[in-house]
Amino acid sequence: AGAPSRAVEAYIRSIATRMPIGRVGSDAEFDIIVEQARAATGEVQLGNLLYAGLNGGGSGKVQLLRWEEDGKVSWYDGAGKGERKGTMAMPASGRISSGFGLRRHPVLRFTRMHKGLDIAAGHGAPIRAANDGVVAFAGRNGGYGNFVRLNHSGGMGTGYGHMSRIAVRGGQRVSRGQVIGYVGSTGISTGPHLHYELYRNGVAINPRSVSFSVVQQLGGNDLRAFKSKLSQLLAVPVGGTRNKPAKTDDAE
Ligand SMILES: [Zn+2]
Repeated sequence: AGAPSRAVEAYIRSIATRMPIGRVGSDAEFDIIVEQARAATGEVQLGNLLYAGLNGGGSGKVQLLRWEEDGKVSWYDGAGKGERKGTMAMPASGRISSGFGLRRHPVLRFTRMHKGLDIAAGHGAPIRAANDGVVAFAGRNGGYGNFVRLNHSGGMGTGYGHMSRIAVRGGQRVSRGQVIGYVGSTGISTGPHLHYELYRNGVAINPRSVSFSVVQQLGGNDLRAFKSKLSQLLAVPVGGTRNKPAKTDDAE
């Protein structure tokens, strides 16, 4: 059976995250597993791409499994390692009014360490999560005023201060770019701005000094469930729901 074009597209997109498609040789072997559902009429319908395999001969081997978590689809390799995420996003749009480092504090009038970036923005402007994460703290926090702290993978964290309003709760999962609060001037502040901090292993570092990517890694029960799903899928006999595209031309 030929592979449905939608699944082939998804296949190429997922493989392309791991291997430049131009490097795939004509001797490459493709392997895909497509979700199959039987409609009430008895007709078989092909659904999502579940597994994408590529044995590129000289150009290497890729095995990717579709993994859905909290409604979000990611592609993981056989070891449970996911896509590379891009660098952290800036959490608000505006001019950086104060950088990271020692400065004379405008309110307290003595020299102290400024542990983040100040981004000048209008009262009520949205503040967005710099990356996917979990809300570790959301509430009043002394001079920070209304403050949100997010934990990200790889020992990274971010903090957002002086919010006029907090839009998340402790323990909540957030996605990169999701609105977590609104710019304000709560706590010790001279006017509406976002005070943004970045932490590596709990220590504040200069948000502008790093450009990093995070490799998502499944662990614990997720990893066990992932591996059992992978072996279950790979045990599907050829000619079942497992399809091989007839032509490698599909990968152009
Ligand atoms: Zn600040």
